[in-house]
Amino acid sequence: MRFTHDTLAQRVRFATGDAAAAVAEEAGLLGIRRAMVVATPRGAGVARAVTAGIDVAVLHEGVREHVPVEVADAARAVAAEDDVDGIICVGGGSATGLAKVVALTSGVPVLAVPTTYAGSEATDIWGLTSAGTKTTGTDPRVLPRTVVYDASLTLDLPVPLSVTSGLNALAHAVDALWAPRADPINAALAGEGARALAESLPAVVDVPRDEAAREQVLHGTYLASVAFASAGSGLHHKICHVLGGRFDLPHAATHAVVLPHVLALNAPHAPEAEQRLAAALGSRSAVAGLRELYDRLDAPRTLRGLGLREDQLAEAATAILPAVPPSNPAAVSRAVLLDLLGAAWGP
Ligand code: NAD
Repeated sequence: MRFTHDTLAQRVRFATGDAAAAVAEEAGLLGIRRAMVVATPRGAGVARAVTAGIDVAVLHEGVREHVPVEVADAARAVAAEDDVDGIICVGGGSATGLAKVVALTSGVPVLAVPTTYAGSEATDIWGLTSAGTKTTGTDPRVLPRTVVYDASLTLDLPVPLSVTSGLNALAHAVDALWAPRADPINAALAGEGARALAESLPAVVDVPRDEAAREQVLHGTYLASVAFASAGSGLHHKICHVLGGRFDLPHAATHAVVLPHVLALNAPHAPEAEQRLAAALGSRSAVAGLRELYDRLDAPRTLRGLGLREDQLAEAATAILPAVPPSNPAAVSRAVLLDLLGAAWGP
């Protein structure tokens, strides 16, 4: 064995039904006295309840997906005007993403209370979108110092969004197995994350208000995301980054559609990853296991269904090709990408 592994320093607290008390304690430990609370207008009520026990300087509701630069500037101005000393984001990846870019320039700590399975809370990756181009980077300042998971906050996440968001989480685990910094430590986390997700997502589809199943999805989400943050972006993430950024496709659903195609490409060339994933999915092969899971979840299958036009596939392939990680197990040419995208686009 020969590898170097960084573990990101973060405190995580599972506190089902108890987010407000946990947030009050954790904000106190971080020394937050003037909090900026970040949430969508729809999530503002939950955010108020979750932060009822702390001193809130401002509740900022200007969240938009993919963090447009003007949205980031507005939030940064609010943070400066109100002289905040910490950010508490309550919501999905979009709320976490806005908190991260405020932390990037202000350096104040972030406490994240996730309500989807995007997993951004466990990474040091920030993203900003300007003139249709999404730029990402990593910075220790944007890694939330503390994460509070409360499964009761996710009980009303609609089933289709629970499915796509959960498959976004699963994609973190799968892609981590062949990403540039894949190693035995993040592979172990990815395997257990995938197992927890594959077991609990069908239970959520059957009974959407099953709190124990939702808790297991969050557990799998966290492990998968820690693995992804450590291993880096593999081919799957490079493809979804281009599709999401250039063609404005919905983040979680795009990940859900693309994942089986990247797995089908790489599985024959990555036997160890394939076996780990097959075991996690409880199937004879990773590809068959994922297919069975998608059937069970009635997951979205086509990029066409997400609004991508067939004549945009060539542009996508051209944009993805230079970003293909050299670590990818299967060789990837423009023709391979066109095949993969064509299959993902749909019959
Ligand atoms: P989102 O945050 O945009 O949320 C999707 C929708 O769900 C929104 O309308 C939101 O209001 C609603 N919602 C959230 N929680 C809910 C709940 N509990 N009940 C009902 N509705 C709820 O989407 P997302 O998929 O969570 O996040 C996507 C964003 O996160 C993208 O911008 C993506 O790039 C980013 N992301 C970043 C990283 C990273 O490591 N930096 C990782 C994953 C995703």
